Amino acid sequence: MSRLNFTLENTAPGSKARAATFTTLHGEVKTPVFMPVGTQATVKGQTVETLKTNGSSVLLANTYHLLLRPGPEVFRAFGGIHRFMNWDGPVLTDSGGFQIFSLPGDRAMNEEGARFKSYVDGALHLLSPETSIEMQKAIGSDIMMVLDQCIPSTAPYEQAEAAMHLTHRWAERSLRARGDSPQALFGIVQGACHPELRKQSAAFLRQLPFDGLAIGGLAVGETHEERYRFTDLATDHLPTHLPRYLMGVGTPIDILEAVHRGVDMFDCIIPSQLAQRGTAFTSHGRMHFRRTVYKFQDEPLDAQCDCHTCRHHPRGYLHHLVKADEMLAWQLLATHNITFYHRLMREMRESILRGDFLAYYERKRPDLMRNDEDNPCTHPKKTRGPARAPRLGDYEVVSSPQGFSSIRQLSSGEVMHSVSAPSEEANRLYIEQSALANRLLATPATEAGASSDAAELVIWDVGLGAASNAMAALHCFERTLAAHGPTALRPLRLVSFECDLDPLTLACRHASHFPHLRHGAPHALLADGSWTHASGLMRWELHTGDFLAHLETSAAPDLIFYDPFSAKTDTGLWTPEVFARIARHCAVKPAELYTYSAATAVRVALLSSGFYVGEGLGTGPKASTTVAFTRAESATRHPSAPRLLGADWLKRWNRSSSKFPAGLTDEAKPSFARLIESHPQFAQLE
Ligand SMILES: [Zn+2]
Repeated sequence: MSRLNFTLENTAPGSKARAATFTTLHGEVKTPVFMPVGTQATVKGQTVETLKTNGSSVLLANTYHLLLRPGPEVFRAFGGIHRFMNWDGPVLTDSGGFQIFSLPGDRAMNEEGARFKSYVDGALHLLSPETSIEMQKAIGSDIMMVLDQCIPSTAPYEQAEAAMHLTHRWAERSLRARGDSPQALFGIVQGACHPELRKQSAAFLRQLPFDGLAIGGLAVGETHEERYRFTDLATDHLPTHLPRYLMGVGTPIDILEAVHRGVDMFDCIIPSQLAQRGTAFTSHGRMHFRRTVYKFQDEPLDAQCDCHTCRHHPRGYLHHLVKADEMLAWQLLATHNITFYHRLMREMRESILRGDFLAYYERKRPDLMRNDEDNPCTHPKKTRGPARAPRLGDYEVVSSPQGFSSIRQLSSGEVMHSVSAPSEEANRLYIEQSALANRLLATPATEAGASSDAAELVIWDVGLGAASNAMAALHCFERTLAAHGPTALRPLRLVSFECDLDPLTLACRHASHFPHLRHGAPHALLADGSWTHASGLMRWELHTGDFLAHLETSAAPDLIFYDPFSAKTDTGLWTPEVFARIARHCAVKPAELYTYSAATAVRVALLSSGFYVGEGLGTGPKASTTVAFTRAESATRHPSAPRLLGADWLKRWNRSSSKFPAGLTDEAKPSFARLIESHPQFAQLE
């Protein structure tokens, strides 16, 4: 029977994130939990009181260091670490293996254990499964760890396999050495970056009477993606009724990612180590206090934090302490960083219990990845003169007098979403006008003909640009998911077409100008070419290259957001031939096209391809835009009842000087005119 009485309270919908409680000999622990590292029976620069105020519930202590100094006799004399350091909460001890295998120094390893020379007094020691447990018993920790053989996560298969088998034999010896001690003991899953070994290791250890299982051998040499993948894989094979501990991880973003993948417990020296270097984690990104930008700032480190440091000391003072290498700088920044970690854990736990962890996860990711955006790093200017707008390739960031930023193409001078804030225009023209939120809701299967309404909704986002329309769709999806829950939603597939990724890359680099990009998705899309929402209900794909090259091979859309550069710049995308190809490809189901253009040439091109064409909403100075439907009944049933072009329009068209699409020969003009006049849309007209 487990010594921790682990109780799983909730698992977040659409994620593997878990909230749980377990009980140790020194009190209850609520997970996900972060354990500050107290290497030498002290968390550097913190008193027991400050640790408690900061929200610490469990501490980690290092068996290796405590074995060498002060040694087991001292712990036995004081009756254990709790009384020794005056900490009455739970303590977890590692086995010492990590230090033996990773620190430089003399050691000799065999089946029995590792022999090494003390860095304190040169004495020879044996660290074996038995001596490690013996030392952890003397320390009197609440949770002990088995001795494992640590190897780099990049180790080749044979080496990783041998280390795994040795770790398994040592795990069994550790359990025997623990005997009937009331202290809990965790096993450690090894296997480096070899999926088969990770699986085998988890399968072996879950049969043994451990009180929890740790994922070892990560955060030592692998990439972030590998770590996420192997954490995911490991938790898939760990039992749900035991706590899961990812050793030595990590930064706040690493922890968020690992909680999402089902890990409960973490330890890391980063909050103290970075504090020592003058770095703080804050709600507006990482801040480096050596930077002179903070010298005169009289505001708190993080206005959203209630820790001692943020309540009492302005940034200017912290900058001064860091510059002067004062001990207090380390102490105050560590106090804040540890508080920041515990608040992150608490927020994750609360969102898991509420059931909206996924939304929290997506919101938090970009926050945890950025640097202080209010005081961005700027490089000294080499030349005088007005600052140049950020540029990439053929594009630059432009700021409007109204305070929003857009992307301008230098060669054409054309600005994406020039007339109003990009996200406002995107919402009005594409999201609200297409009633996207309603369409995302699956119609109950009992209604007649509803089967297709529960099927995947496909949106084509033609002209990704700086992802304004795509992100507006994504935010609409997330709002609808939060309001109605995952079972009420149809799956959404957003397909973005773009031949030039520079605008999005540029905007992502300057995300402080583009609030809609403060989300993990556009960054993932650029890196991987696709992104899947954690709920699994939305997939965003990027088709790079010419839209026309992908048109017929992409899944037929329900909605088309048609937003390439204008006909003047991107002539090829506004022709009757292109709209005819779109209409043919969309024949399988009704499709609707939304575009910012109200040009006669565009509307007539759509009509000639068989679309039913109507007036769209105006935006900024534009009185109207264009909506088009492949089937007449889509217009009639449309929630915003758009007005199809009628007799007035036809009259105006007949008088128009730009009546025919560019390139139409004189012989073809009469038949083109007949084609438009005989369009069924105008048939009922008097
Ligand atoms: Zn603070």
